[in-house]
Amino acid sequence: SAFAALGLAPELVQAVADLGFEQPTKVQSLVVPMALQPGVATAGEARYADLMVSSQTGSGKTAAFLLPLLHTLIQQKNEQADAERQAFERAAAEALASGQPAPKRPKRKNPTLARHFKPATPGALVLCPTRELAQQVAHDAIDLVRHCRGMRIACVVGGMPYQMQIARLQNADLVVATPGRLLDLQRSQQIQLDQVQFLVVDEADRMLDLGFADDLAEVNNLTSQRRQTMMFSATFAPRIQQLALRVMHEGGKHVQ
Ligand code: AMP
Repeated sequence: SAFAALGLAPELVQAVADLGFEQPTKVQSLVVPMALQPGVATAGEARYADLMVSSQTGSGKTAAFLLPLLHTLIQQKNEQADAERQAFERAAAEALASGQPAPKRPKRKNPTLARHFKPATPGALVLCPTRELAQQVAHDAIDLVRHCRGMRIACVVGGMPYQMQIARLQNADLVVATPGRLLDLQRSQQIQLDQVQFLVVDEADRMLDLGFADDLAEVNNLTSQRRQTMMFSATFAPRIQQLALRVMHEGGKHVQ
């Protein structure tokens, strides 16, 4: 399909087919390949390009950022699973050769039953200006990972009970959040942001309208400076450009 031609993981190609998407929208066909292309090299390591994307609601912008981000998370998970399988097979072969009992396969733990509490350390974070938008984005992400094993999505928004959100946060790979509640949970050490490799700021113009500039600066400081950042905004007004310069390498590549 046209989505497979963008280089996306088969799990995602299947999910978009299930959703009835036949062709990528314009913003998707621009953003997905750019987001997956190694960009500026920092300290000798390939780093994905930061993007500043002009987009309207209804353009398909949500999948435009979710698809590349989920693609990379899936690849990382697959690589980790392969490494674990190889380590197990090596141990089994060594045990066989030396007449020892075969090693047991490591059990998958149910993280919500973990005895020892650990803060969540998501690899990807999407920030949205409103609770409704965050819930919609999380919903779209859940639709896209239906064929992926063990990919966890959590939604962190104000006006909801903490306890349920904290339970869902455990082992989350992707967190979709409004800034206020996210920083609340960060301060109470329910979540750590230093493993975030992908940061998306959705509807950046509304984010500034709603007074989230300081919160965005704080998230910028709490996440790795080696992350990939994508900002989506209806306009590239000067205040958006200023924010882009603050949170993205050279203000990000413009995609229009
Ligand atoms: P968004 O702009 O992200 O709010 O998306 C608007 C609507 O378009 C959502 O209902 C999506 O499910 C749908 N959509 C996104 N991408 C595609 C596509 N490639 N083909 C058909 N519908 C899509």
